[in-house]
Amino acid sequence: MPGDIKSKVLIIEDDPGICTFLKTTVGAAGYDAIVTGSGSHALNIIASHCPDCILLDLGLPDMDGCEIIRSVRKWTQTPIVVISARSTEEDKAGALDLGADDYITKPFGAVELLARIRAALRHTHTTAEDGELALTGSYRVGELCVDYKKRRVFLRGQDVHLTPNEFRIVALLGRHAGQVMTYKALLRELWGPSVSMDNKILRVHMANIRRKLEQNPNQPRYIFTEVGVGYRMAERSEDEPTD
Ligand code: CA
Repeated sequence: MPGDIKSKVLIIEDDPGICTFLKTTVGAAGYDAIVTGSGSHALNIIASHCPDCILLDLGLPDMDGCEIIRSVRKWTQTPIVVISARSTEEDKAGALDLGADDYITKPFGAVELLARIRAALRHTHTTAEDGELALTGSYRVGELCVDYKKRRVFLRGQDVHLTPNEFRIVALLGRHAGQVMTYKALLRELWGPSVSMDNKILRVHMANIRRKLEQNPNQPRYIFTEVGVGYRMAERSEDEPTD
């Protein structure tokens, strides 16, 4: 939840109805909402107000939202959650690969929206400590625990015996829990920027990971598939320990 100083959420959306819904939902959750329907105005606001999170509609009257992502990513890592009616896999993957942090497709509800904002904000707040977290921390959700120091994953306290590559995939998704990671981003993080492997290798690893982690691999509880885009690790519940 936002602390004493309210987190600033910039809403870039030109549809008045959706704008009102976003502003009301974000405001009621305790965030400070700033609203604009213009892309060029949004770029000025980002520079002058330094929002903590940006909700971005891709179809703006004066600019394509993808231009905003490209421009913003040249100088800041402020989390961007894309909100769009465009729902093809290519659109989602394209926006994420340009540097958006997450993607939400219209129509959506308040609960989903706020969960995405929380995940985006949490990621900003932990990015600085990621290196340390990777060595010492752990990520828990439900009965699953990713122990970064021991480089092991436990389910109900039992080591699930992942291979080194399987561990790296789960560890990476755990660090971005609640957010979708594209196939491209996963491949790049795991095997370097010049990797030419296709998504098939990830699917093979994921099938093996799910066999080890999920009670029913066809109805996963921990790692979800965003069809044609990538994977998303379940978000930690608010009451679970973070160590
Ligand atoms: Ca629009």
